[in-house]
Amino acid sequence: MKHDLIRTGDADSFRQIEDPNGEVVLSYCRRCRMGEGELEKECGGEFEMELRQLINKHSKENESDTPDYILAGYLLNCLDAFTRATQRRDDYKY
Ligand SMILES: [Zn+2]
Repeated sequence: MKHDLIRTGDADSFRQIEDPNGEVVLSYCRRCRMGEGELEKECGGEFEMELRQLINKHSKENESDTPDYILAGYLLNCLDAFTRATQRRDDYKY
């Protein structure tokens, strides 16, 4: 999924990503709520954003000293790997 970036004039733009003239100068995805420096990877959408919030809410990044977005990405990759493995298993069976 591609990021859905907020543009100048969008109703959901906000001061922290705008310059004093109201022009959007920092990239920010309205879907996953990732900003500058975090947008190289594919957009994980609302689910990834909620997963990051859940990790933060329960301070799960503290145990491994790993940022929430890395942990959320890891968990999403685990789900993808499981899906691929079960598909391969089903292909093998039939
Ligand atoms: Zn995004």
